[in-house]
Amino acid sequence: MLKTLDARAVAIDGGFWARRQAVNREAALPHGLRMLETAGNLDNLRIAAGRAQGRFRGRVFADSDVYKWLEAAALEMARVPSAALRAQSETLIELVAAAQGADGYLNSYYTIAEPGRRWTDLAHGHELYCAGHLLQAAIAYRRALGDDRLLAIAQRVIDDIHKVFGPGRRATTDGHAEIEMALVELFRETGERRHLELAAFFLEQRGHGRIGENRYASPAAFQDRVPVREALTVEGHAVRALYLTTGVADRYLETGEAALLMLLTRQWEDMVTRKLYLTGGVGARHLAEAFGQPYELPSDLAYAETCGAIASLMWSWRLLLATGQARFADLIERTLYNAILAGVSLDGERYFYVNPLASNGEDEHLHRGGCHRKPWHAVACCPPNVMRLLASLGHYLATGDAEGLQIHQYASARIALADPGLALRMESDYPWDGRVRLTIETSSGSSWPLALRVPAWCAEATVTVNGAPAARGDTTTGYLRLTRAWRTGDVVELALAMAPRLVQAHPWIESTRGRVAIERGPLVYCVEHADQPHVAVADLEIDVASPLAEAWEPERLDGVTVVRAAGREADHASWDDRLYRPLESGGPAGGRPVMLTAIPYYAWANREPGAMRVWIPRLEESST
Ligand SMILES: [Zn+2]
Repeated sequence: MLKTLDARAVAIDGGFWARRQAVNREAALPHGLRMLETAGNLDNLRIAAGRAQGRFRGRVFADSDVYKWLEAAALEMARVPSAALRAQSETLIELVAAAQGADGYLNSYYTIAEPGRRWTDLAHGHELYCAGHLLQAAIAYRRALGDDRLLAIAQRVIDDIHKVFGPGRRATTDGHAEIEMALVELFRETGERRHLELAAFFLEQRGHGRIGENRYASPAAFQDRVPVREALTVEGHAVRALYLTTGVADRYLETGEAALLMLLTRQWEDMVTRKLYLTGGVGARHLAEAFGQPYELPSDLAYAETCGAIASLMWSWRLLLATGQARFADLIERTLYNAILAGVSLDGERYFYVNPLASNGEDEHLHRGGCHRKPWHAVACCPPNVMRLLASLGHYLATGDAEGLQIHQYASARIALADPGLALRMESDYPWDGRVRLTIETSSGSSWPLALRVPAWCAEATVTVNGAPAARGDTTTGYLRLTRAWRTGDVVELALAMAPRLVQAHPWIESTRGRVAIERGPLVYCVEHADQPHVAVADLEIDVASPLAEAWEPERLDGVTVVRAAGREADHASWDDRLYRPLESGGPAGGRPVMLTAIPYYAWANREPGAMRVWIPRLEESST
């Protein structure tokens, strides 16, 4: 089993992710705080604290957005001290403390809007969910900053929950999983076994009809159809489903119960072989924000909530810790660079809730989709979730085990472990360049293995130590394993071939049949109107026989490598205004040759609105 590194062991200090983290810190967090003020989240706490008058605003889980913002702020401050963030977060922590009741209960919605109705609507009330987010934020303050003030508040909340729920008390759980992983984290932090046991208790409540009827009249929507131990597929609301599997995985990591890992593996394989978008997005359906049936993966109507992708990453991370298998780190990489990163604009102040893989470039008024990221959402779970994920990114780069170090994600960063005393510098222009240089800065001199992931997308990887080709060790888990007595100044150079490539989807996915997508390295690409302004994106076809070309363009979209492909703009004029026509009335293939310019999917919708496609029809002579 792999071990997470200390909260301050990894510092991303350059390159792609340092830029995203700087935007997160300097633009997204201040923006987020303004939005929490405007949307009423902070006023809700002020009213609950008796410091203001008024009605509750927003959704029942509004407090959780404040907690996620606080978690992100703690993690950012740990890396780069900020007097402004410190002052703002201290004001918020003091406000949260004031909103807490004498009995420890803390939830502004039930305090203001439905006093006397605590714990009466477990399916929709989100009380345990909010407590879970408070706890995660509190643990982040302790680990990142050594600050226990929020943890003192959170522990009183949890003590109150222990009095209400558990064996011999109320036997039910929240309709939205979240509390479980937070309780396991509190167990890890305090060593108090009762928190691990309460997490297990909440997990075991599912599948017995104890949560109550939900608004979709479907127990599957809230993961209440079967007990956790009988769940072999991912189903229902995607964020809820994967927060739950993350909680189950946390329980496995603490108990080592083999049956749980077997179940989780089955569910993860169900997801990646039948219910996963190319981007790593999950939850195809707008209805109930749910996983669809196998292969139900529409491109234009993809829901693929940003939070679902974050949940998938958190789950895969725990399965990576449990197994050491690169396939979990591969999915983390795919999800991070594509489904998650698309959720936030390049300037850090606009957010997608829904992440389609195709858009006609027009606004969508009936649901949360469309081609515009918005400054905030009425349901604002995603923006602060992206903020805390980006702030915690260093956590997902590397792990240790009994003897050595494993690098899972490549970035420019310094990794330092106190025990055993070792430090190394990792430098890379990833994801644009597949070369990674690791320099040993400190080593005990004893022999230990350094494991480097070879991504599944990479057809050719070479590695040298001090300029000489190195033995790769056992690569069955997807990692190169370099074992030697490392000395200060040793240099490892990994080169991952990163040529652009075409991929196709399983024929049972309706929306992608006859189409291909472009990938390069960990990035999924798309064609967007802004890069081919004189062509209708819907008419673009790609010639799969022509070679793909790439070019680094520093001025485009904060700097991206674009991929160009030969194709044509099909001429659909013979359709007139018909939607359907007899097959034999189709004319010969026609159109004009064009060069398609594809950009990384994460960067779409940062310019003037326009159509976008990930999956591009193949140019075939009979296709007009
Ligand atoms: Zn969300």
